[in-house]
Amino acid sequence: MASGQSYLGTCAKCLGVITEKACTAEKLNYHQRCFTCALCCKELFGKPYYTMNGKPYCEEDYLNKLDKCASCNKPILERVLKAEGRKFHPECFRCAVCKKCLDGVPFSVDTTKQILCMDDYKKKVAPQCARCKKPISPPSYTNEVTRVIAMGNSYHTTCYRCEDCGLPLSSNSEGRGCYPLNDRLYCFDCHKRRVPNVGRMPAGKAK
Ligand SMILES: [Zn+2]
Ligand SMILES: [Zn+2]
Ligand SMILES: [Zn+2]
Ligand SMILES: [Zn+2]
Ligand SMILES: [Zn+2]
Ligand SMILES: [Zn+2]
Repeated sequence: MASGQSYLGTCAKCLGVITEKACTAEKLNYHQRCFTCALCCKELFGKPYYTMNGKPYCEEDYLNKLDKCASCNKPILERVLKAEGRKFHPECFRCAVCKKCLDGVPFSVDTTKQILCMDDYKKKVAPQCARCKKPISPPSYTNEVTRVIAMGNSYHTTCYRCEDCGLPLSSNSEGRGCYPLNDRLYCFDCHKRRVPNVGRMPAGKAK
């Protein structure tokens, strides 16, 4: 080192000796001209910069490098909420149905990867009653039977009744049972009343 020159350290970028105007960032020294954005090489002296893995970045590149929120697509500057392999602003992590914030709250994910609060999840996965089209809540904590499965459909116990006379058709009722016709629910009597009419139709009648 030539005498008379003040030694200000070694440049972390070019490894050359710094004799004047050093930039110091994260305990590393740089020549002013060497203190550049690790991505776009823009000089950062006197400008706002950010460090990531020990390298300086300009503001724009830093924001671009940050994790993006899977919901609003903006960079996440503070706490990253990770869920289902995606990243979110905590305040962007909401139920897809009711929009309730689910940060720190139990949630579930449906088959289309939608985030749902437990209430909406239960509603969504609950089978739909083929009669009234409303969800059938799971039997949950009671042993109460809430659902009848018939002909590949689910029904509320209360909806599983003859579509003509309203007689409950739960097969555990003595002497009852479902006698479906064209996917509709009928009791034995109402089924019998309808079938003869069908039977009397002339078969193969030309229009
Ligand atoms: Zn340098
Ligand atoms: Zn840059
Ligand atoms: Zn967001
Ligand atoms: Zn919800
Ligand atoms: Zn129903
Ligand atoms: Zn009936």
